[in-house]
Amino acid sequence: MKRPRFTMRFWGVRGTVPCPQPDRLRYGGNTSCIEVCCGDERLIFDAGTGLRSLGNELLSNEDSRLSHLFFTHTHLDHIAGLPFFRPAYDSKNHFEFWAGHLGAHGLSLQNVLKQLMQPPLFPVPLDILHACVSFHDFLPGDVLEPFPGVRLRTLALNHPGGATGYRIEFNKQAMCIITDVEHFGDDRDNSIVEFIRGANIVVYDCTYTEEEYPRFVGWGHSTWQQGVRLCEAAGAGRLVAFHHDPEHDDAFLDKVAAAMDHVRPGSVMAAEGLTLRP
Ligand SMILES: [Zn+2]
Ligand SMILES: [Zn+2]
Repeated sequence: MKRPRFTMRFWGVRGTVPCPQPDRLRYGGNTSCIEVCCGDERLIFDAGTGLRSLGNELLSNEDSRLSHLFFTHTHLDHIAGLPFFRPAYDSKNHFEFWAGHLGAHGLSLQNVLKQLMQPPLFPVPLDILHACVSFHDFLPGDVLEPFPGVRLRTLALNHPGGATGYRIEFNKQAMCIITDVEHFGDDRDNSIVEFIRGANIVVYDCTYTEEEYPRFVGWGHSTWQQGVRLCEAAGAGRLVAFHHDPEHDDAFLDKVAAAMDHVRPGSVMAAEGLTLRP
């Protein structure tokens, strides 16, 4: 029997800020946005600038099914694409927006996004999104079921202001998205190890190399070497390096890719347009 498709496609792979320079375009210059399809259902993770291209593709396919959009958190590099997500301006469409890092701070996703989309920061207010949009705030640790048969586990991550990790379970397989996160010195974060245990694919915040990291302690990001250690400890499948530093050009990322594949064969660098299956 044919398995229903379970795919992950990258629309934006950078952290921090877009970097559309020619020597960075092979991996891509857009910020965080990942599309996961579970059979006919679509989940979107983060609304970085990559979301704009995803929206245009959905429009060109006249694909206006219900989508869920899960925010890892609301730093600018994870929300800057939202005002330019054209399907959200069409009243035929319906979106559910979710975030798990704000409730503990007494904030709500809707109010945070209102601040982004209002004059003088943006010419029109959030209400201009004519699609039917519902906003949900949950707590890390909650288990969500956006569609029957699709289970989403959630985890609080160590990041300034908080962030949420997601584990998407579908058809007895699992993919995890763990960004933005900083490790605790040399210690393994056992909550992450348990969370990603046995997952087929683990997308991990690999902003820095271990050599660079000491200059960025406290900035809320991790290294590909830490990603390897976590995946090894968890018996996880493929490690996907994500949230690339905008200062890293294609040549630099090629070197990281080779080093990573040498240490843990099968590991890959996220790149715009890359599609993965478990
Ligand atoms: Zn980020
Ligand atoms: Zn962040």
